Amino acid sequence: MLAPQTTPVTEALTPHDLVTYFRCPHEMELSRANHHRQPDGALGNIRTPEHVVPLRHSPLFAPPLGHLIVNEGRLDLTEKDILVYEDSGEDDLPVLFPPERVRPDIRFSGPRSTLADPELGLRGRPDLIIQRADGSLVPVEYKETHLFVGYHEAHGRMFDTVQVVAECRLVEAAFGKKVPYGIVLYGDQAGNGQREGWVRIPYGEAEQSWLRVALRQIREDAERAPVPAERNCGGCEPNAEGLCKFAAARYEGPHHHQTFFTSRRT
Ligand code: SF4
Repeated sequence: MLAPQTTPVTEALTPHDLVTYFRCPHEMELSRANHHRQPDGALGNIRTPEHVVPLRHSPLFAPPLGHLIVNEGRLDLTEKDILVYEDSGEDDLPVLFPPERVRPDIRFSGPRSTLADPELGLRGRPDLIIQRADGSLVPVEYKETHLFVGYHEAHGRMFDTVQVVAECRLVEAAFGKKVPYGIVLYGDQAGNGQREGWVRIPYGEAEQSWLRVALRQIREDAERAPVPAERNCGGCEPNAEGLCKFAAARYEGPHHHQTFFTSRRT
């Protein structure tokens, strides 16, 4: 008798997983294991071998950055733009629309707000999704920090790009509509809006290919090695819980990355 065939289960990944892997693959592994603790409180499964050799940089190559458009000031909303989605798990998102222009898509409201892409095995929740005047959908990732001069030199903003590319794909898959670009909104309220800004991140063929390769690379990585460095470890949440034996610096708080990059403002 033939043995029953089993279909390999694709490891579900989130935009946040891509961001942590891009910083340090072991951070991603620890974050997920911490999130999926056993009933007895033990950490979930960790791939990283005991005697892994730490890396100097994450093995994931950067997404395409050549066509980003960096804008200072307020987001360019028009009277015809409407809000069709808001992450129900976030309570500190900015109010960008008057009530009459908030029209949530009931398929993705409340407890159903996690978007899924069965083809690529992605799941997650963007902060906001705007339907623009031409009918296109645009995910918006909100950051409380400010947009600063020298965007392209500040590799911290690459993490935001990684996240938005994955969110563009999620929105396209879940809503079944083409997504031309995503937005990172830097919403620092200080200075009467003078420090606000937003970046438009195109979602074209180059970004789609990058995402597919990145997801495959993450799933095939049997080690998920640590990348110990002050810039990584100071803001690493598993490090805050004392979970990493490779840490190169003490945990400094969730905004450590932001502080680090802010200090590079010119
Ligand atoms: S403490 Fe450093 S090496 Fe360890 S998982 Fe976090 S970022 Fe990686």
